[in-house]
Amino acid sequence: MSRVVLVTGGSRGIGAAAAVALAADGWDVGVNYRTQADEAARVVKACEELGRRAVAVQADVVEPDQIERLFDTVIAGLGPIGAVINNAGVVSPSGRVAEYDAERLDRVFRGNSISAFLVAGAAVRRMSTAYGGNGGVIINVSSRAAVLGSAGEYVDYAASKAAVDALTIGLGNEVAKEGIRVLGVRPGLIETEIHEPGRLDRIGTTPPLGRPGKATEVAEVIAFLASDRSSYMTGSSVDVAGGR
Ligand code: NAP
Repeated sequence: MSRVVLVTGGSRGIGAAAAVALAADGWDVGVNYRTQADEAARVVKACEELGRRAVAVQADVVEPDQIERLFDTVIAGLGPIGAVINNAGVVSPSGRVAEYDAERLDRVFRGNSISAFLVAGAAVRRMSTAYGGNGGVIINVSSRAAVLGSAGEYVDYAASKAAVDALTIGLGNEVAKEGIRVLGVRPGLIETEIHEPGRLDRIGTTPPLGRPGKATEVAEVIAFLASDRSSYMTGSSVDVAGGR
């Protein structure tokens, strides 16, 4: 299997940490970003300093044409893809369900669920043995919110990630005999820039482990799931949430 991985949303936070952890594990890395070119370049440099090849590719993963260009650019630069970390995602502002409008829901479900489906589909078309590929791994970054529901904060975000969990199960079964394993991670409260200002200070000590997690702690699990060390796992998701 190819040792080239594409990380969507690889410029910052969990995606950036995953890119570096995967490079340390011997993967060449396609680092996707939407707006932060400087941050993506920093991640590419960190991967190269670990002795791996890496390229940064701008693409908005809610746009099908840009997803196709993203995959084709990574393959042209690094070779056939053997793993995809379906990580890019957006959170919604705090609010009650009764206050949500259609525009908000469209942004959240497009940014988390539809994008994840589109990226996973593009990955299958390139990695599945049914499409002439050599197999691979897809790792969907969901959220512990998918199980907890996030009442009073962002039930829409939680539901958009529950769709990602269902994608992991259903697609995992669909492509199991085509050389592709599909796995998920459900991070809990992780220290990144995705949170509204003050949120981590307010609730960061509430997980049973008494602290928020670090992006590197999620990245280690992603690297394990992408490796042959998890070879008998597919269609399941792992909580990385400090007991939450
Ligand atoms: P982050 O620090 O805000 O980083 C988000 C990353 O996604 C950035 O690289 C951003 O690119 C990229 N991105 C967002 N929308 C994109 C799009 N449409 N196309 C391409 N790239 C896009 O977030 P994070 O905390 O690392 O979150 C990563 C994933 O983990 C998300 O799916 C999130 O829902 C999930 N998660 C996070 C937590 C947490 O507590 N942090 C908990 C549970 C789940 P730019 O830098 O170019 O903007």
